[in-house]
Amino acid sequence: MDQATAQMRPEESGRIAAFGIDLGGTKIAAGLIAADGTVLASASAPTPATQGAQAVLDAVAALVTELSAAPAAKDLDIAGLGLGAAGVIDAGTARVLSATDTILHWAGTDLAAELLARTGLQVRAVNDVHAHGLGEAWRGAAAGSANALLLAVGTGIGGSHLLAGIPQTGAHHVGGHMGHFASPLASGVRCSCGRSGHLEAIAAGPAIHRNYLCLGGDAAVADTRELTARAYAGDQLARQALRTGALAVGIAAGSLANILDPELIVLSGGMIGAGSLWWDAVREGFATEAIEPLQHLELLPATLGNNAAIIGAAGLYLAAEPKDRECS
Ligand SMILES: [Zn+2]
Repeated sequence: MDQATAQMRPEESGRIAAFGIDLGGTKIAAGLIAADGTVLASASAPTPATQGAQAVLDAVAALVTELSAAPAAKDLDIAGLGLGAAGVIDAGTARVLSATDTILHWAGTDLAAELLARTGLQVRAVNDVHAHGLGEAWRGAAAGSANALLLAVGTGIGGSHLLAGIPQTGAHHVGGHMGHFASPLASGVRCSCGRSGHLEAIAAGPAIHRNYLCLGGDAAVADTRELTARAYAGDQLARQALRTGALAVGIAAGSLANILDPELIVLSGGMIGAGSLWWDAVREGFATEAIEPLQHLELLPATLGNNAAIIGAAGLYLAAEPKDRECS
């Protein structure tokens, strides 16, 4: 951050804001975020993933232009453009180090240079799950926590370990890949990474559905949402698949807590809406794995919902002093 921007810190001006972008494989969400984390304006667009990185960056820039024209943007000092982006992101350079083929030609993209050229804004970026975690640690369920662990359980599984609100992205920028944590309940089950036995292979939403079908469940059940409804209606195989996934999440959370000793654990993602059958089994799994001093640890639902990542991405500029950051 340059000197001019540093002089516009929230406590000094009160009018500072930043753009936060949540860039996923199917959707780009953008927000204009105030210094206190309030979403002043938001917009979204489908990700033109099959058209390649340049088209995706053009779409991001178009959303920034749209938000810049919003009435809420009047007279604000924009500190920068923060991104939570799919792929493995070098948070120091905002470059995409590696990525799946979800977005064509995404790996190697220099997000900072490309978006500076399109928007004139300084750019910082982290992986989208870290942005999610940063949002929850800044203004959500983990606000004020010096040491928080976020575990996001949805179509995939990821996470973020945050110290003083700062995502720990690791020496190779792959920190937080908690979906690829070995799970005793996933033994022999193929994972999206090509290996087997990982948490995501048994506990992500689609994995729960797949496990249900493997157990002999009703092939007419189309997805995990329907499976969850069936579980509450008494379908024993649906209950079993849901419980297995949730237990695996709890066991992983307990094992990670034994290593990281967080103050609290925040669970986010689509599966946290699966109700008491899921939550009770998560807590049961946690209790079996966490050592005694950690048995009291709270497992809390995320509170920012779909806004977590745009708030967190903007938080790369707004949430902490630059000199304190390890991710910029
Ligand atoms: Zn894996």
